[in-house]
Amino acid sequence: MTLSRHLLAIPVLVGLANPVCAATVADIAAAMGSVNVSTLRISGTGTFAIVGQSLRAGGEWPKFRIKQAERVFDYANSALAEDIVFLPPEGAPRGGGGQPFYTEQRRLNTMRGDAAWTGAGENATAAPAQIAALQHELWISPHGVIKAALNAGTTASTGADGRTTFVVERAGRFKAQATANAANLIERVVSSIANPVLGDMTVETTYADYRTVEGVQVPTKIVQRVLGHPTFEMAVVDINLNAPPVTAPAQIRPAAPVPAATIEKVAEGVWFVAGASHHSAAIEMADHIVLVEAPLGDARTNEVIDLVKKTIPNKPLRIVVNTHHHFDHSGGLRAAAAEGMTILTHEFNRPFFEAAYAAPRTLAPDRLARANGNARFQTMGDKMVLSDSTRTLELLALKDNTHADGLIVGYLPKEKILIVADAFSPRTEVVRTPERLNPFTTNLWDNIQRLKLDVATVLPIHGRYVPVRELRIEVGQNN
Ligand SMILES: [Zn+2]
Repeated sequence: MTLSRHLLAIPVLVGLANPVCAATVADIAAAMGSVNVSTLRISGTGTFAIVGQSLRAGGEWPKFRIKQAERVFDYANSALAEDIVFLPPEGAPRGGGGQPFYTEQRRLNTMRGDAAWTGAGENATAAPAQIAALQHELWISPHGVIKAALNAGTTASTGADGRTTFVVERAGRFKAQATANAANLIERVVSSIANPVLGDMTVETTYADYRTVEGVQVPTKIVQRVLGHPTFEMAVVDINLNAPPVTAPAQIRPAAPVPAATIEKVAEGVWFVAGASHHSAAIEMADHIVLVEAPLGDARTNEVIDLVKKTIPNKPLRIVVNTHHHFDHSGGLRAAAAEGMTILTHEFNRPFFEAAYAAPRTLAPDRLARANGNARFQTMGDKMVLSDSTRTLELLALKDNTHADGLIVGYLPKEKILIVADAFSPRTEVVRTPERLNPFTTNLWDNIQRLKLDVATVLPIHGRYVPVRELRIEVGQNN
């Protein structure tokens, strides 16, 4: 803002100890140099955490040291590219999210318009589920939130402390309130984004230690938190205002269709309901069906429910077993509840889910919210047996598995089938023992021995269902 505006503002505010100057979004844009920003690349180091993948429900997200992080904001093309290389945990892995155990891991996530993908070039694969999160990331960045506000003609308001706030939103996707300090630099954005478990999930991002590059203000300290736990902390080292625009690989098209779920009989009354990435199992009892796992979110779980109802008509779906609280495994529980199923989960998880379900769901109301319904819970500790004249399903909590506290496996003693999430995910045929064993899988094997389970087939939530031989090979017990 100009000096004269500043002086003119003072008489209006007589009576305040520290006269403040009301700023508009245009003033903030001018102070930040936003009009001169078309693309911006920042890189540096920090920490990164995987939301929804804590060891214990409600606990800290698994956090990793970033070796190198880069973000390219391409505002003109509504595009964002994120490239993070992070180090494995120093001790035992705690929690999930496909974290690395022994070597560094690189995650490349990119979005342009209504397309998102992971990886780069020929190896890029469509990732439509990432679009909302990446759009959110782009438009809550300091220059993004200003550009969005300028576009929308947003009005700002300045408080007695000299801070100015304004709100931007994209219907169905996100809502953000930005705060600029008295120098008109964006210092904080509190936003919400739709999450299948948390509803309108609040993200708090702070921007500090601004550096001026070619008249543009760029924060060099970024801290992001979800439910109070840090999810991203970055110390920016390099800033480039002339980064090339983000382009999509040839094979990536907007709105790539999600493959449909399929259903297959594994044994009498035992059904494998396969999705592209996450599966479920349907167990037929005498007069009802037990669904094991309601993954991802409303869309996938409603599809699974429809498929099971069509395949096994005349028996109601009464219970949904939640193997663990990780968001990709629990995101469809509310859809199952809307279908009338009782959620059966470990007792560790119930308080977390109940608190999460109490949050508002205004951004993308799911089936349960639209029906104004409530979720019914039933909990278990170490063991619960569901049994009738037809079938017995034992639910057993793995002991000391550091993927998730209270990770539940399903065991059908008569059919000798073990239903497992995340502790063993045979996506391709296991033909040799890996050089370094997966600690989640060795723990599963220890639990199978401890519980004296007689397993012939493993039915995983990720991957293919396989003879137990593949699990034996995976843990080096095939002799
Ligand atoms: Zn998990």
